[in-house]
Amino acid sequence: MSTRTVLQEGTAAAEARAAAALTTEELYRELLRRIGEDTMRDGLAETPERVEKAMAFLTQGYAMDVATVLNEALFEVEYDEMVMVRDIEFYSLCEHHLLPFFGKVHVAYVPSGRVIGLSKIPRLVEMYSRRLQVQERLTTQIADAIVEAIAPQGVGVIVEAQHLCMMMRGVEKQHSATVTSAMRGVFKTQMQTRNEFLSLVRHGGDEI
Ligand SMILES: [Zn+2]
Repeated sequence: MSTRTVLQEGTAAAEARAAAALTTEELYRELLRRIGEDTMRDGLAETPERVEKAMAFLTQGYAMDVATVLNEALFEVEYDEMVMVRDIEFYSLCEHHLLPFFGKVHVAYVPSGRVIGLSKIPRLVEMYSRRLQVQERLTTQIADAIVEAIAPQGVGVIVEAQHLCMMMRGVEKQHSATVTSAMRGVFKTQMQTRNEFLSLVRHGGDEI
């Protein structure tokens, strides 16, 4: 078999595979067809392309990692008072239904020689929420990333969220929020620290 023949066969096989595989846009068009829509009508003509872009945006957290997000914005400090960033807005997609859940994240930690640049904590929340998630894992991933990054005395994370997969399907009363928390270090072992955090969460800002 000559080199040329091998190359031609390789190309033909690749073309056959490419024809069999749908593009993401085609997959969304097929999805529209299967839910009974007329994919040719004006309103839907550009929908597959838009959905592809929207999904890429909503799941861009997969292309990010903690090291890049924190970008060495870690600083040495002397103090050991609680640092808190509250009411961080987030929007995520539940991994069971691909429907949005959204709300607020409250993050606090007691440093042990190092702190994270304040603007980086919302970025961390964004990174984990722009992936397919469950609320419990989102909560623990944020806490564990901070533990890993600066080894603080402790971390507390509370997430309050509303889940459209429950609200739209009538599983849950509208406007009720699901609350999850992850406590690490002194937030787990010292009641005083935990209570200070919980009271800061409760007594500032509006309820969602
Ligand atoms: Zn769901």
